[in-house]
Amino acid sequence: MIPAAHPLSHPAPSQGGDAPPRWQALWREAVRDPRELLGLLGLDPDALGMSDAAAAQFPLRVPRGFVARMRHGDPADPLLRQVLPLDAEMRPMPGFSLDAVGDGAAKAGHGVIRKYRGRALLIATGSCAINCRYCFRRHFPYAEETAAAAGWREAVAAIAADPDIDEVILSGGDPWSLATPKLAELTDALKGVPQLKRLRVHTRLPVVLPERVDAALTEWLAALPWPVAVVLHANHAREFDAAVDAAMRRLREAGASLLNQAVLLRGVNDSVEALAALSERSYAAGVLPYYLHQLDRVQGAAHFEVADEQALALHRALAARLSGYLVPKLVREVAGDPGKRPL
Ligand SMILES: *Cc1c(COP(=O)(O)O)cnc(C)c1O
Ligand code: SF4
Repeated sequence: MIPAAHPLSHPAPSQGGDAPPRWQALWREAVRDPRELLGLLGLDPDALGMSDAAAAQFPLRVPRGFVARMRHGDPADPLLRQVLPLDAEMRPMPGFSLDAVGDGAAKAGHGVIRKYRGRALLIATGSCAINCRYCFRRHFPYAEETAAAAGWREAVAAIAADPDIDEVILSGGDPWSLATPKLAELTDALKGVPQLKRLRVHTRLPVVLPERVDAALTEWLAALPWPVAVVLHANHAREFDAAVDAAMRRLREAGASLLNQAVLLRGVNDSVEALAALSERSYAAGVLPYYLHQLDRVQGAAHFEVADEQALALHRALAARLSGYLVPKLVREVAGDPGKRPL
């Protein structure tokens, strides 16, 4: 997703005197110590190239329910690889930078990015429930204010002032790391923007912490006046389990269209088998494959990169094997482009 802000260690508190929702407690109980994570999986930190320096630069963070989906004793587990800080991250690589997709230049208001035609990206918060090693959010530890911090006012004013914007995309960080009353504040303000036709949410939370999809969230979702698309970020079939399936069902019952955007990652999903299984598994959960993204060339993520030629070959093989609607579009983000660029 799009970086912009301080990765807060806690989600925004719920309002009023009510007990905080359960998902917030699960959030706070996330594993943050790489040695604890490896201990839970029966793995030896020294044999794995685990790096304290990389963990100091961008901390490990992974919900326990996601850890439970990792294979015990498997150092190559595709879920583990997405979150474990490694020595390889600390090697400087030419061509890999801090602002890989040029968001610094696309800022148009507090937390609002206008880099796609007709769509406004709203950086709702910098928080995430999981820290993914390939994410370039790792390099924006104390950056700009988010739209939420500014009380939404400026962000909504910037959107309202542009008649070309008919879709608002909630991004982050992870927008669903905000408490539901906070989200409702935003969408109440957006109801005053007449040109809006669609709302979109880019989130990894329903996959990594399915408890987030609670009654308060689905009630909020079901009451929105626009069609809502939820773009999930799952990279491997094994990220889905029964709890995730149930969360997806609740989202669909609340009226959302569900899409998946994966990142092509070496050692995680860089085989036809893994990509086909991801498409089939997400569809079984009611989620249509949407994008397969080439990695953004961010410092520390070079070891995840898959060469373009191999990416194209994988994509061709996938298309030869699956129903057309199970084949995601292979794209990359290019700084300054008005949309994603097909490979
Ligand atoms: C690509 C992307 C978008 C917008 O692109 P679409 O082509 O309209 O889907 C929005 N948010 C994020 C996080 C993206 O990666
Ligand atoms: S969920 Fe992972 S990939 Fe998405 S913004 Fe957060 S750290 Fe980055």
